[in-house]
Amino acid sequence: MAEQRFDAVVIGAGPGGYPAAIRLGQLKVKTAIIEREYIGGVCLNVGCIPSKAVIHAAKMFDKMGHADELGISIASKPTLDMKKLQTWKTGVVNKLTGGVRTLLKGNGVEIIEGTAKLEKPGADGHRITIASGIIAGKPAGGTQTIIAKNVILATGSRPFEIPGFKIDQNRVIDSTGALALDHVPQRLIVIGGGYIGLELGMVYAKFGSKVTVVEALPRVLASMDKDCVGVVERKLKKMGVEVLTNTKAKSWEDKGDRAVLTVELADGKTAQIDADKILLSIGRRPNSENLGLEAAGVAIDKRGFVIADDHLRTNVAGIYAIGDLIGGMMLAHKATKEGEVVAEIIAGHKAAFDVRTIPAVVFTDPEIASTGLTEDEAKQKGHTELKVGKFPFAALGRALSVNDSEGFCKVIGDAKTGELLGLHIVGNGAGDLISEGALAIEMGAVIEDLRLTIHPHPTLSEAVMEAAAVALGEAVHVMNQPVRR
Ligand SMILES: Cc1cc2nc3c(=O)[nH]c(=O)nc-3n(C[C@H](O)[C@H](O)[C@H](O)COP(=O)(O)OP(=O)(O)OC[C@H]3O[C@@H](n4cnc5c(N)ncnc54)[C@H](O)[C@@H]3O)c2cc1C
Repeated sequence: MAEQRFDAVVIGAGPGGYPAAIRLGQLKVKTAIIEREYIGGVCLNVGCIPSKAVIHAAKMFDKMGHADELGISIASKPTLDMKKLQTWKTGVVNKLTGGVRTLLKGNGVEIIEGTAKLEKPGADGHRITIASGIIAGKPAGGTQTIIAKNVILATGSRPFEIPGFKIDQNRVIDSTGALALDHVPQRLIVIGGGYIGLELGMVYAKFGSKVTVVEALPRVLASMDKDCVGVVERKLKKMGVEVLTNTKAKSWEDKGDRAVLTVELADGKTAQIDADKILLSIGRRPNSENLGLEAAGVAIDKRGFVIADDHLRTNVAGIYAIGDLIGGMMLAHKATKEGEVVAEIIAGHKAAFDVRTIPAVVFTDPEIASTGLTEDEAKQKGHTELKVGKFPFAALGRALSVNDSEGFCKVIGDAKTGELLGLHIVGNGAGDLISEGALAIEMGAVIEDLRLTIHPHPTLSEAVMEAAAVALGEAVHVMNQPVRR
């Protein structure tokens, strides 16, 4: 069979790859996308979407258990059918992945299901072989080679393992295993206090598991604003989740009826913890092996991430890389933006990944959302004096009236210029509120812009305006306590 030729080939159909392919299709570039496992990648299938579905269910379950505070009595305690929850969650995933498939096809993108590998480039372009793998659980045979003028590597990442903790999805599970459980483990150990571990740990704590978080660093969610994290730490404690910081997981043993984890505590002593499941969530590593990078001459760094510049170009002309594969903030929206930028570049338009901020959200209870700089980062970047304003959700009519008033909104600006440097929110709806800060930072706004913009009442979004007012010493709904640091 003659080799197929494309102007662009995208390897990996996650939130980086599929938007790139759709945009290329829209721009009339002859494009194929190759995916070995699931259209929609980690995010839609085993990441962002299914995790947010179970987080929503856990929140609802928890709220129902506390409905009597509002005078609502539920005849008996709410019960949970995990199998039914799984069915609902799978339905949500299928709706979205089906939609992506339709959009790819609708924009003229050829979908090829199989595992792609780069070969040594020929005179006629980049060569990619595709070995058909397991598609929708069924083996598919055959190999084919295609030729591409441009290649976008978007193969994403997978969970890190540590020696002695092989993920068997039985005793030792990763996030994918944790999202697929058809029962609630009585005791769950979460190794790693990053956002994935805490989000899932909280889900199971709400469903009734005794959860212990083991974190090697001095604090959980190390990259997020300290004050915001403090609120979540207090909530974890209230929920009965034990958080062991400065603690290293050393080994584990299967005792038949349980797993026993040995940890080294902060004081150097060892301790043992019993569990039914151990969730390993210590970060993710790039899918850069077995991709033919060496044959094609594509450079990677020490940790295996493909090296790409702000035009997402690798060191090989015509080969681009995006998403988790190139590291940085390993988030779906970062991957998507990069995918869209590359599509424009390949289509001959001027574009670059040139953003001032990438917002991040941790879907714990309460949520933490952040955009721009933390106070420490601002200082490190030479903003010698800062204006900081904090507004508590407890002073917000909307937060009180929906019985969800934990947390605050914090605005950070440069004291001399007023430039908005960072917005950090911990509280109900933080993830939905943060985009205002991202837009403001992208537009080069000053704190006063947030202060002067009328926010509708009563809404949670007023917290942003009120925090700006606090920073400027103009608050009317709390006592003025602007902080200069
Ligand atoms: C539990 C969990 C929750 C998360 N929650 C959030 C969240 O709330 N918000 C957020 O922004 N991010 C979240 N993330 C992170 C997010 O999922 C990733 O940042 C995002 O999926 C990265 O997109 P990507 O396109 O780079 O790669 P991926 O989504 O990893 O997609 C890569 C695709 O490439 C395919 N592939 C790999 N190698 C080959 C090959 N050789 N041939 C063909 N195909 C190949 C893979 O099968 C995969 O489908 C979460 C992740 C996890 C695990």
